[in-house]
Amino acid sequence: MLTKSYDYIIAGAGCAGLSLLMRMMQDAFFSQKRILVVDASGKTRNDRTWCFWEKEPDIFESIVLHSWNKLDFFSETYAAELSIQPYTYKMIQGLTFYNYVKSEAKHHPNVSWLQEKIQGFTKPATDDAGNLLSGIVLSDRSIYADYVFNSIQFEPIRSKPHQYYLQQHFKGWTIQTKEPFFDSGKATFMDFRVSQEHGTTFMYMLPTSATTALVEYTLFTKDLLPSESYDRALKEYIAEYLHIPEYEIIHEEFGIIPMTNALLPQTNGGIVYIGIAGGQVKASSGYAFRFIQKKTAAIVDALKNGRAVSVKAGFPDVKGLLYDSTLLHILYHQKMKGSAIFSRIFKHNQASDVLAFLDNESSLFTDLKIMSSVPTAVFLPVALRELSLMQKRRN
Ligand SMILES: Cc1cc2nc3c(=O)[nH]c(=O)nc-3n(C[C@H](O)[C@H](O)[C@H](O)COP(=O)(O)OP(=O)(O)OC[C@H]3O[C@@H](n4cnc5c(N)ncnc54)[C@H](O)[C@@H]3O)c2cc1C
Repeated sequence: MLTKSYDYIIAGAGCAGLSLLMRMMQDAFFSQKRILVVDASGKTRNDRTWCFWEKEPDIFESIVLHSWNKLDFFSETYAAELSIQPYTYKMIQGLTFYNYVKSEAKHHPNVSWLQEKIQGFTKPATDDAGNLLSGIVLSDRSIYADYVFNSIQFEPIRSKPHQYYLQQHFKGWTIQTKEPFFDSGKATFMDFRVSQEHGTTFMYMLPTSATTALVEYTLFTKDLLPSESYDRALKEYIAEYLHIPEYEIIHEEFGIIPMTNALLPQTNGGIVYIGIAGGQVKASSGYAFRFIQKKTAAIVDALKNGRAVSVKAGFPDVKGLLYDSTLLHILYHQKMKGSAIFSRIFKHNQASDVLAFLDNESSLFTDLKIMSSVPTAVFLPVALRELSLMQKRRN
């Protein structure tokens, strides 16, 4: 007889899985639900730093390491200090986040943890009462639940014809200086003054004190660089643009984020895809943290109210996908340089409008204003082509 062992299985205890768990633990509706969290890793490494912007504090406010209200933008053609009110730009460290959720879970006996590699999913099945169950497959057994919330990418993303796949790859150094060098009230959002020979390339710099900053070298390209190229670029930037002669590297991070308009699965029976595996990364910017927060909040809301967990993409997401596809097409086919596009957008619009646009939360009026700041001759034919491809895919 097939029975469920849990109400919910959270497959993958990274940003999406633990954001969902945290939201469930904060809501009395879930206090009697049996929740299993499974991850191959013990999540004991500070493997990433999340930055994001928001207007109102959300559930991870207490672990924000640092925040900024002013951001610098630099390129060969435009430089400005961007005032981003009503937004605040925030930073959370990965390990702080993992530990925060794990220590909260100690107060919730309904939450169990398993450190094990998941091999895949069971076929959808029903219990004796006819309820649909979904399960994970481990090396020696399967475990069933009503829902599996999955953030594990079992297969590499494969884009189909007319879909674009770029990699956002980056290396960051947290550096410490003996003398005070940084203004911790202001971060550098994008600095395009570095070589654009590989494609869209920029630095960002996030100072957390007068003597400490994360400096990150970021590219949107088809292929990765040899590992020494990232170090060389960071070294040159710190010397030539930050004018820092001596520093110590106290932490390093490297990451790759998919930038694609390939459509990823949202649900399969009771398996619900979350995080990057569920496409919750903004294809044109690589930002995912806020999209993950919005998605996990929507899942909790749907479960509480007995609604379908996967809702069809609304108008803001559909238009966001159109804009992302358009920008990806232009960058992929090198029809215009990313540095020129972002320079024009920031030059001709309020930074807060651009941030809302990148969050898929801007009004149609704002979208049109932002779009009018890039060359119509380049963007309009591409946007029309992408719109027609989207319509064909929907039919
Ligand atoms: C270095 C780095 C920096 C980033 N910085 C930002 C940022 O500043 N702002 C932003 O918005 N986004 C950022 N991102 C993008 C995105 O927010 C993160 O990738 C985020 O962690 C995605 O969350 P996720 O839950 O989808 O995946 P993850 O956080 O990667 O979680 C997936 C989990 O699945 C587990 N797992 C994988 N395979 C298995 C298996 N077979 N069995 C069991 N467990 C498994 C992994 O151990 C992992 O814990 C960054 C990404 C990286 C890599």
